[in-house]
Amino acid sequence: MEKKLEKKDIVLKKRDLQGYKGDYGHVIVIGGSRGFTGAPVITANSAVRSGAGLVTLCIEDNIENMVIPNLLEAMSCVFSNKTKINKLLKNAAVIAFGPGMGQEKTLDILKYILDNSTCPLVIDADGINILHKNMELLRGKKVVLTPHLGEFSRLTGLDIEEIKKDRLNIVKEFAHIHNVVLLLKGHRTLITDGKEVYINTSGNPAMANGGMGDSLTGIIASLIAQGYDVLEAACTGTYIHGYIGDELSKERFCVTARDIIEYLPIYMKKFQ
Ligand code: AMP
Ligand code: MG
Repeated sequence: MEKKLEKKDIVLKKRDLQGYKGDYGHVIVIGGSRGFTGAPVITANSAVRSGAGLVTLCIEDNIENMVIPNLLEAMSCVFSNKTKINKLLKNAAVIAFGPGMGQEKTLDILKYILDNSTCPLVIDADGINILHKNMELLRGKKVVLTPHLGEFSRLTGLDIEEIKKDRLNIVKEFAHIHNVVLLLKGHRTLITDGKEVYINTSGNPAMANGGMGDSLTGIIASLIAQGYDVLEAACTGTYIHGYIGDELSKERFCVTARDIIEYLPIYMKKFQ
């Protein structure tokens, strides 16, 4: 049986008085490509504003100039700086991989990251699109996958109508077989580790616009960096993301990722 995820289930940890940025983890976001420079910026800024200690966005050299002006607290690093990339991967608390990345070199980059890091990964968007028939690459890693229906269809090879008919069992079985936390986004997002299935009760169609999922990826990664286990981070992040969307949609026609980023610190406080 699936369990409903409701407001009463969400509790954020209090911060220790002596807390230091090193205690709240370093989130590495890897993504972006020409024409898709906003997605990884949204992920990075969402991670910053949901409480991560440090955030670094790693990008292809040719988009650096477009990305940097949109980062304030987050740092950046270009792929050609291998020494720095390797150091970041080694010290990362979590890696958020895929937003806006395109599919050209993504599989090779993912393989490199998997070989050179030990931390959990949140894989979204084009990071998921290249995983069809490549799921064995993730063996032994702690992973959260965050597909929407289209991405889950590409990942599994099943068509969307087929998935919709039996969403719950299909996600549970996939997560169980591949030993990942799987989050199938949409209205009433499902989250499962292959054992339990949680059904999110927050979120609404005012959130149905580009960039919204990139924001969720940043929130989940941020929570993992702050010490939440991957399933707990996926559930907590999903509920809070939808909750902010619900609160803001009371007074707006649409809610964008920029709005979520702005209000994250205020609404997260309500769950502490
Ligand atoms: P993406 O498709 O990757 O941009 O992700 C969209 C995000 O917005 C997910 O977190 C969805 O759950 C959320 N979202 C979009 N439309 C709705 C809806 N009708 N009801 C609830 N959540 C939604
Ligand atoms: Mg998306």
